[in-house]
Amino acid sequence: MGKFKHQFVKVGFTNCYLLECKDGYLQIDTGYPKDYSKYKQRLKKKYNIEINEIAHLILTHHHDDHAGFAANLLEESKASLIVHENALKRLKLGLSEIKSRPLNRRVRFVFGFFNKFHEFQYPPVIPYDNVKRLKGSQDNHEVLRDIGLEGVIIHTPGHTEDGISIILDDGSVFPGDNAMNAWYFNILGLQKRPLFIQDLNLIFESWKQYVNLKGKRIYPAHGKDFSIELLSKKLSKFKPDSILYS
Ligand SMILES: [Zn+2]
Repeated sequence: MGKFKHQFVKVGFTNCYLLECKDGYLQIDTGYPKDYSKYKQRLKKKYNIEINEIAHLILTHHHDDHAGFAANLLEESKASLIVHENALKRLKLGLSEIKSRPLNRRVRFVFGFFNKFHEFQYPPVIPYDNVKRLKGSQDNHEVLRDIGLEGVIIHTPGHTEDGISIILDDGSVFPGDNAMNAWYFNILGLQKRPLFIQDLNLIFESWKQYVNLKGKRIYPAHGKDFSIELLSKKLSKFKPDSILYS
């Protein structure tokens, strides 16, 4: 089992991860639209990577803090786009759906204010011929294997309907927003759960899959990486269905 070299660039609120692959780099997620130039500068300064070395872009879901500068990056890099089919409609609109609800009262209080002034929009990812659409709830090994990476992409709704997670054979898990770990979120009582949820039981199902698929380390889109044991502990602590406003 190979160990993959992970690199990451934090831009604004989001961690963008980079994995070396057969024909360059696979990037996981982007940041807010305004951060594209900053991102390119950081990529160059930190790793000496040019944008045209990004050969593939995976969006873990369509939210603006993940897909924000995807259109710019795809246009400039000519990378292929890997997304769940449920994301396509929203990507074309360039708009986050805001069906998800706050995890608890504290999140509702803090983000109620933020959401009033936040746009949720981004440059639309217009019909693009180099797209790999992941369908339904099937696990997909081929997409990663085709680009020289060993691992699986799984459909993990719960935060959004189009949520996908990447689990590499070396145990690295990229959950998108299905697990969060920024220190300031602990004040809000998240305990690794997402700020916003559609179905918390599905979030816990995804955590179980990370454990079952031999995940070892979680690399969230927001906050620092952490050990899978922490998710296992939380799983035994939380009782699904007793979740909202805990
Ligand atoms: Zn999100």
